[in-house]
Amino acid sequence: MKKGLLIVLSGPSGAGKGTLLAEVRKNGFDFALSISVTTRQPRNGEVDGVNYFFKTKAEVEAMIAKGELLESEEVFGEIYGTSQKFVEAKLDEGKDVVLEIDTKGALKVKEKMPSAIMIFIVPKDLETLHSRLVGRGTETAEKIALRFGKAKEEIARAVKYDYILINDKIEDCAEQFVEIINSEKLKVAREENQQLIESFK
Ligand code: 5GP
Repeated sequence: MKKGLLIVLSGPSGAGKGTLLAEVRKNGFDFALSISVTTRQPRNGEVDGVNYFFKTKAEVEAMIAKGELLESEEVFGEIYGTSQKFVEAKLDEGKDVVLEIDTKGALKVKEKMPSAIMIFIVPKDLETLHSRLVGRGTETAEKIALRFGKAKEEIARAVKYDYILINDKIEDCAEQFVEIINSEKLKVAREENQQLIESFK
C-alpha cells in the first residue's frame, strides 16, 4: 500500500494558511489535517477535537514525557504539539497528511521525517500582512503587535523550506499547492516509485 505524503505548511499569522487548505479541499484534493494539541484557550467558535485538542499544561507535558508528540513548541506563551500517532496512522492508511504548524516545530519534523514536503505561504508584501493581522479582529492590539513581530521571524525561516507560495490570489495558490503535491508523488526517489522500478527487473 502506498504511504501518504507528509506536507508541512507554515506561514505567518494572516498569510492565509486556513483559507488555502479550505480552497485546496474545495478543489477536490483530499488530505487529513493533523489536529494539534494546545494549551491555549479556544477562540469564539472553535471546537475541541475539530480546531485543536484543548488541553491543560500538565496534560501536554505528560504527552511530551511519554513521547506522544512528533514535535512541540511554545508559541505566544502557549504549548502546541503534533500527535505522532495520528500522523503515522494516516500516512499508513495512504492518506496525505497536512501539518499546519510554526516554523520551529516544522523544522523539527523535517529532521525526524526528511521526506516531509515543506511549503511556506506568504502574503504578497508587508503591508498586506499587517492589514490581514488587524483585519481578522479576533485579537487585542497588543497581541497583533506580538504576532507582527513573530511573523517577520517566521518569514526569515522560509529559506529552509522547499516551496514558497505567494498569496496574491488564493485560487492560484491552491492550484500551485496541488501541483507541488502531484509532482512530489512522481519523484523517482519515492519508495513506491522505487518499488515500481524494481518490479520490472
Ligand atoms: P493559533 O493560536 O493562531 O491557532 O496558532 C498559533 C501558531 O501556532 C500558528 O503559527 C500555528 O501554525 C502554530 N501551531 C499550531 N499547531 C501547532 C503544532 O502542533 N506545533 C507547532 N509547532 N506549531 C503549531
